[in-house]
Amino acid sequence: MIESQGSAIPRVLVLGGTTEASRLAQALADAQVDAIFSYAGRTESPLPQPLPLRVGGFGGVDGLCAWLQDQHISHVVDATHPFAAQMSRNAATACAVTGIPLLALERPAWQAQVGDHWQHVPDIASAAQALPHTPSRIFLAIGRQHVEPFLALQQHWFLLRLVDAAVALPPERGHIVLARGPFTVAADTALLQQHRITHVVAKNSGGSGAEAKLSAARALGLPVILIDRPAIPPRPTTGRVDEVLQWIAAPHGSTGVATERGV
Ligand code: NAP
Repeated sequence: MIESQGSAIPRVLVLGGTTEASRLAQALADAQVDAIFSYAGRTESPLPQPLPLRVGGFGGVDGLCAWLQDQHISHVVDATHPFAAQMSRNAATACAVTGIPLLALERPAWQAQVGDHWQHVPDIASAAQALPHTPSRIFLAIGRQHVEPFLALQQHWFLLRLVDAAVALPPERGHIVLARGPFTVAADTALLQQHRITHVVAKNSGGSGAEAKLSAARALGLPVILIDRPAIPPRPTTGRVDEVLQWIAAPHGSTGVATERGV
């Protein structure tokens, strides 16, 4: 069991929804740290976790402040997806207001390699505008939120890959694959070829589980429209689960091994 070098025994909130959050949950459970795992509740069948779960929004910054204090939380780990910017901003504000230490567990962004044909765009709207005017076959690898601006472009055919079938797509407009990562380069290459994809649209999520589509696009010489990460206020950040455990065990309020980072 981890005991903080400060006085009280830690009680941790993990803001989840990523592979890294699941890895952290396992590490906290193994170390017998008192922790609660939070899901937004976006998917019908969220992965089970080895920690007590809560599901659903907190009710903005005020709701989160009240919840943190009510639950006697001593540490918050923001392990949400890099595009879950609202939750990350709320966590930063709520931790500043309540004085509860915050650490982000965040994977580095993907970097272009030789052979990549990436067009960087700042947001969803720009990604939709970056698509060609001529009819094209698009792998829209952005999850189920924010697909409307793309589907409004009637000339294109879309391949969507989703965790659950939450989007209606007429067969003449495209195809939905239900799958949860991690994905392999071989399978993603075959998927792009099978559907005669001409363009890939993706978020710069980083991490290994969803990187295969970029390697597949590189292998096939396909252009990728890559959406840059949204801005999040600077906060202590690490990419390593073991450093999160060290931080929890460190004297209260210390940022320990983590570095200040924000984009
Ligand atoms: P978001 O836009 O940043 O958050 C919107 C609201 O959803 C938040 O203000 C909060 O509601 C609630 N929320 C988000 N994450 C939460 C969590 N872990 N626990 C409790 N409430 C949460 O978030 P999003 O982009 O919709 O992402 C939602 C979830 O899906 C996150 O957990 C994220 O890690 C995961 N995810 C997102 C993406 C993506 O591309 N955005 C990809 C993979 C996984 P209140 O204000 O009411 O507290």
